[in-house]
Amino acid sequence: MTSSRNARAVRRVGLSLVVVGLLTGCGPEPQQGTSPQGAPTWEGYVNNTPIPTPGVGGLGTASPATSPSAIPMVAATPRVAPTQPPAAPAAPTPRITQVPPTTQAAPAAPRVGTLEGRTIVLDPGHNGGASTAFNNKLVPAGNGRRKACNTSGTATSNGVPEHTINWRLAQALKATLQDAGARVVLTRTSDDGAGPCVNQRAAVGNDERADAAVSLHADGSDAAGARGFHVIRSTTMTGGARVQAESTALADAVVAQFDAIMPRSNYLGGGTATTPRDDIAGLNLSRVPAVMLEAGNLRNATDAAKLTDPAFVQTQAAAIRRALEAYFAGR
Ligand code: ZN
Repeated sequence: MTSSRNARAVRRVGLSLVVVGLLTGCGPEPQQGTSPQGAPTWEGYVNNTPIPTPGVGGLGTASPATSPSAIPMVAATPRVAPTQPPAAPAAPTPRITQVPPTTQAAPAAPRVGTLEGRTIVLDPGHNGGASTAFNNKLVPAGNGRRKACNTSGTATSNGVPEHTINWRLAQALKATLQDAGARVVLTRTSDDGAGPCVNQRAAVGNDERADAAVSLHADGSDAAGARGFHVIRSTTMTGGARVQAESTALADAVVAQFDAIMPRSNYLGGGTATTPRDDIAGLNLSRVPAVMLEAGNLRNATDAAKLTDPAFVQTQAAAIRRALEAYFAGR
């Protein structure tokens, strides 16, 4: 790690790449009232213990140089008087054997992950269970707006709820990001109960001073043949023009990676797979780079089959990880 990298790492302590499932814009209006009733049970987001800096033990412990073997002294051949019988042949000069340096393996350097020092916030969209009253209370949405705390989200035609699909992807993504050295913070602690409202989910990324926040959703369009992914970004972020520009770069990175695994949305974004919005609270209120992924359309049977396939969940997580690695490269 270079000194500048170290300095940045220090500066970035506490930042996480948060994938925030803040947004409520997925598909049709939620089927409110169908969620289990119950008081909010959110007790705060998961604040993972920062990954300790790898120890430096073992570094710089150069192997001692191997001293070459001492060169044996060669006994001088005694001079022989002429009257003496011919001298016996001189003792052969001992061979000087070159001892090769010890080929001791260098100590293994501590692994530095591609996302070491990054804090990433992941927001698995919606909640496992929230009352209508809980969801309907109005909260600040940024840009002078107020909107509902949350929605129930959409579902596949055979009844798999979006909140569970988002949760499964968040778990897979969290694991692979941690493998890459990131500190990962989720906005809700389980797929049960009522998670935080959308404005509070934005606050998680801000409070953690996340390096990036990703909200994980899947869409719910009933338009015939509608399928594909798109990435939402805000045009009115609290973080201002710089954060918006960074969020655009992050969105572009996600699109570039998802292009390899899913078709682009054929019903939003005009073929760009990017949808600028000004009404998404979780993005509007963010002071850190943040985007919302709509990984596919759950009302489409083809998309739904992919997004509920455990193997494809891993494929998505790997694509988002590559997107984050690409986004952070050089930053
Ligand atoms: Zn959603």
